[in-house]
Amino acid sequence: MSKMRTYEYVWLDGYKPEPNLRSKIKATAEETTPDWSFDGSSTQQAGTGDSDCLLLPVQSYENPTEPDYIVLCQVHGADHKVHPTNTRAAAAEIVTDEWWFGFEQEYYLTHPDGTILGWEHGDPRPQGEYYCGVGASNIAGREISEAHLLACLEAGIEITGTNAEVGLGQWEYQCFGKGIKAADDLWVSRYILNKIAEEHGVCVNYHPKPKKGDWNGSGMHTNFSNDVMRTKGDKALFDEICGKLEKCHDEAIAAYGSDNDMRLTGSHETQVITKFSHGVSDRGASIRIPVYTVEHGWKGYLEDRRPSSNADPYLIVAHIVGALK
Ligand code: MG
Repeated sequence: MSKMRTYEYVWLDGYKPEPNLRSKIKATAEETTPDWSFDGSSTQQAGTGDSDCLLLPVQSYENPTEPDYIVLCQVHGADHKVHPTNTRAAAAEIVTDEWWFGFEQEYYLTHPDGTILGWEHGDPRPQGEYYCGVGASNIAGREISEAHLLACLEAGIEITGTNAEVGLGQWEYQCFGKGIKAADDLWVSRYILNKIAEEHGVCVNYHPKPKKGDWNGSGMHTNFSNDVMRTKGDKALFDEICGKLEKCHDEAIAAYGSDNDMRLTGSHETQVITKFSHGVSDRGASIRIPVYTVEHGWKGYLEDRRPSSNADPYLIVAHIVGALK
């Protein structure tokens, strides 16, 4: 028998408001990944009478554990047309490789019953010592964060950093990429995180405000730039970009994740969801102009602080590029 390879096909289902990640494994002697299919009636993507949906591979990643490869797919209907739940297709049409993105993915780790790691005996001490902290009274889940970092690097996903966040049991990693692959990589980094957490009997909570009260929510600040932003060196360009983003603030909020109103309250380093603002080094603004950009003669990037931790990165990149075309 020729050598059999194992491919873990990963796709997004049809659940609203945000999709779930799904996967199944194909074992085959083929050296390239063939198109495949699945039962769309079990993923809210088809009826039972017409249930076949198609999986079209779009990116392949070496898998640090078994199976051999993770294969990210987009979904088409049985008619071979883009499925209505496929948010990647529209984004891929406009997001070219000159666009660079750095996502700051925040999340909480929980037990399967929803209790946050470290919160087993009730609310922990108020926030303050957990951010970038060390020690068992300040940290919960580090082994998962670090295993995730190493697994993503081995898979060729450019994680540029990770840290314990402001809430106990809350973490962040930063994921950099170019063009549509940036959003592909972010989805696959989430898949890898969910699987590593699963091995520890732990779940990943991407909700923007898992705990009401004086506890930080989770966001996904999105840093972005294109050729002209990186090279022109003109403050007026950045003002113009912020002006364009302000004009379509409502569309941005619609694309940036559900329940984001619970996070964007004006406290905990956020701007109120109904307001748009921008400012140099301002973490209370919708768009932060990093000091880096100013000090490099207005060559650099911007940070959109509005996207929620549960947002679909395809919708984020499509919104930003569409707004600035
Ligand atoms: Mg953060």
